Amino acid sequence: MKSSAQVVVIGGGVVGASVLYHLAKAGWTDAILLERRELTAGSTWHAAGGLHTLNGDPNVARLQQYTINLYQEIERVSGQSCSIHLCGGLMLAEHEDRMDFLRMAVARGRYLGMQLELITPNEARDLFPVMDPKYFVGALYDHFEGHVDPTGVTLAYVKCAQQLGGEVYTHTPVTGLAQRPDGTWDVEIENGDPIHTEHVVNAGGLWAREVGRMVGLELPVLAMEHQYVLTVPVPEVQAWNKQTGKELPMTIDFGGEIYVRQEADGGMLLGTYEQAAVPWSPKKTPWDFGSQLLKPDLDRITPEMSVASKHIPTMATVGLKRVVNGPFTFAPDGNPLVGPIRGLRGYWVACGVMAGLSQGGGVGLALAAWMTAGDAGDSGMDIFAMDIARFGDYANLAYTNAKVQENYRRRFQITFPNEELPAGRPLLTTPIYDRLTTANAVWGATMGLEHALWFQKAALEPKEDVTFHRSNAWDCVAEEVRAVRTDVGMTEISNYAKYRVTGAGASEWLSSLLTQRMPTIGRITLTAMLNDAGRIFGEFTVARPAEAEEFYLFGSLPAEVQHSRWFRHQLPKDGSIRFEVLGLALVGLSVTGPRSRDLMASIAPDLDISTEAFPFMTFRKVDLGMTPALLGRINYSGELGYEIWLAPEQQRALFDRIVDAGKSHGLRLFGMRALMSLRLEKSYGTWFREYRPIYTIPEAGLHRYVKLDHEFIGRAAYEAQVAEGPSRRLVTLLLDPDPEAPADVFGDEPIWHDGAVVGWVTSGGYGHFVGQSIALGYVPADLADASGRGGAGFEIEVVGRRRPARIQSEPLHDPQGLRMRQ
Ligand SMILES: Cc1cc2nc3c(=O)[nH]c(=O)nc-3n(C[C@H](O)[C@H](O)[C@H](O)COP(=O)(O)OP(=O)(O)OC[C@H]3O[C@@H](n4cnc5c(N)ncnc54)[C@H](O)[C@@H]3O)c2cc1C
Repeated sequence: MKSSAQVVVIGGGVVGASVLYHLAKAGWTDAILLERRELTAGSTWHAAGGLHTLNGDPNVARLQQYTINLYQEIERVSGQSCSIHLCGGLMLAEHEDRMDFLRMAVARGRYLGMQLELITPNEARDLFPVMDPKYFVGALYDHFEGHVDPTGVTLAYVKCAQQLGGEVYTHTPVTGLAQRPDGTWDVEIENGDPIHTEHVVNAGGLWAREVGRMVGLELPVLAMEHQYVLTVPVPEVQAWNKQTGKELPMTIDFGGEIYVRQEADGGMLLGTYEQAAVPWSPKKTPWDFGSQLLKPDLDRITPEMSVASKHIPTMATVGLKRVVNGPFTFAPDGNPLVGPIRGLRGYWVACGVMAGLSQGGGVGLALAAWMTAGDAGDSGMDIFAMDIARFGDYANLAYTNAKVQENYRRRFQITFPNEELPAGRPLLTTPIYDRLTTANAVWGATMGLEHALWFQKAALEPKEDVTFHRSNAWDCVAEEVRAVRTDVGMTEISNYAKYRVTGAGASEWLSSLLTQRMPTIGRITLTAMLNDAGRIFGEFTVARPAEAEEFYLFGSLPAEVQHSRWFRHQLPKDGSIRFEVLGLALVGLSVTGPRSRDLMASIAPDLDISTEAFPFMTFRKVDLGMTPALLGRINYSGELGYEIWLAPEQQRALFDRIVDAGKSHGLRLFGMRALMSLRLEKSYGTWFREYRPIYTIPEAGLHRYVKLDHEFIGRAAYEAQVAEGPSRRLVTLLLDPDPEAPADVFGDEPIWHDGAVVGWVTSGGYGHFVGQSIALGYVPADLADASGRGGAGFEIEVVGRRRPARIQSEPLHDPQGLRMRQ
């Protein structure tokens, strides 16, 4: 056994094996995989092996396609059969909402290059003859789904990795991890001396939590029990196989909450994500658990089985051969956990993979790219939907256990784009939570923090009727937008990420990371952050309140862990600079609208906030009456407005004073939905939608965020991009109304031009003040000019209907930006 290696992968399930293979393929051949028992001795050996291409995140969907494509290659290279059955996949819709869901999936699949088609229930029965079509309204057929043998796949990865130089040691449990002062690791094993390595990958599957605890981490992972049944051969299926020469497709019956596929002998495999879900080992996974199954519990899945026997009548009579009950792990949102851990050099995770056969290849590819080429964004991939950094410290054991169970039960249910799921909430709240609740706020949560989405009319229940179309929020949001544009509104902005950077040299350090130099005293700067490849890795408002080397950065809350991991990684080793994540130590309010100055003046009569004394983009430490605050003249609505940052213990008092004073200024509370509508009317992009690490500054049209008066990460790449010119560009599109089925885009819809899909929507909605349905999205650069070919011929597919659209070249509201500067 080797005593050292560049990287040690812990865990020989399908995920660890894929990571080893992809590392070796990327050139890291001095790589070892350690497996406690036999390969696959976690959840892998008893997986049903199903392959699916659909995912709520298009970037993850791409990696699922990659995974399925990979199987033929590793089978060929290794000589190990993976038992690949690309028999197609069928998704059955039980009602019109589900059809809308499938229509949107088909639409998204168009720019992902997927082969998806919508079919009738009878056409579905032609492909899956055991179903009763009367329970369904339609279906989606995916030509590129099927199933594989999980053990064959794992062995194939391993054999390919071994051919490249990777090594695998089975029956070698890792018992501990000790980090040396230089950041390298000693991997302690049960049966030998520690192995010294630079990088450790936790691919511990069912034991990933325990391998996390070896370094003091509580990873947001929980295993759930999961059952499928295997029937005896079904003569009807055998006859159909013979007659057509085909195998039954992988079928999901969403309404019945079941999935079905065919076995080699003509029997069926039927599994369910049952409502009576049971977590497995919610606190600690026993080390003595091996390649074994849990006790079957058919009672628990009786409700789903009885629906199955109606929808698939054969199931009512066919004999069961075997019941498999096995555990497998989930993260709170059902996507994998991949990437480095903030502040823990050389420790990587590839765990929480609930669909290891559909996703394992993509997880291995993404992690290997990240480890070998630096940040994942540098390799052109955007895997935030799998990045461990999408969860913060709030995602502890109890939170994870609540969310995973919710996610498991909802596995086959629709989550609407405007739906907020209830488990684990409310968790983080600010001091004005009760005030806003009294004002009838409808709440959403991001990174565990509650924020007001919109305010329901008095006496009506503060609840959104979730839909793919326009919800009951419509009128209320319209009124909130109108109040901001014509009078004044106040919203809470504590749900921004806030950072404070201090210390000698802070200005130079930040300038070396950001595309603008730091602001002068009392000013604000808007800036981007690039990675080495010149892709947009962050977007921030930076403010400097006073002379000291003290800067405040405001950014996206969902990216807080990801961005702080990056900033910390870049800190000078001499400790001269302090980087703080302020979290809820700083909370915020935004007061905006044409009457906002009058309102602010009335609560701070001693403060001169005239345009001359406090112009646009000013940022200062002030006293608003009795409340010390940081006051910035900036906002996201495109109106005159102020952002107020203050200590949480001051927030209620100030809120009350503003509400009180606001009575004579027409003040109205507004929420995130109105803010999104306001920013669309100004064509302002937002992080994770218009700006992500797959886009560049020239593509996003963010040149105003860049000044070439200093050196910064990604500058050379940026200059090359400018010289070359972008191949696609971010544009604003206006959709024609659709009186028959009023709806707006949510994001990820395809953009058509002259009958072909040419781009995709990043976000959109309704601009309530301008009265337009608006979409932001990327299209080929030669179509981005409204006066050229882009002037006509666009369509956007909204919930299955192609709607004519045209490019809007300048912001719909106040294109010169005079109102916010007045
Ligand atoms: C009933 C059932 C049906 C399923 N059906 C499907 C399906 O149809 N399609 C699909 O894509 N997925 C399916 N899955 C999920 C799939 O099994 C998992 O996504 C996959 O197995 C995860 O693989 P993994 O490598 O992350 O974890 P695991 O398979 O759990 O592997 C982890 C490995 O790490 C080893 N290990 C842990 N700790 C240590 C240590 N300290 N030292 C050394 N070794 C260690 C373990 O022994 C284990 O072999 C199903 C799961 C179940 C239970």
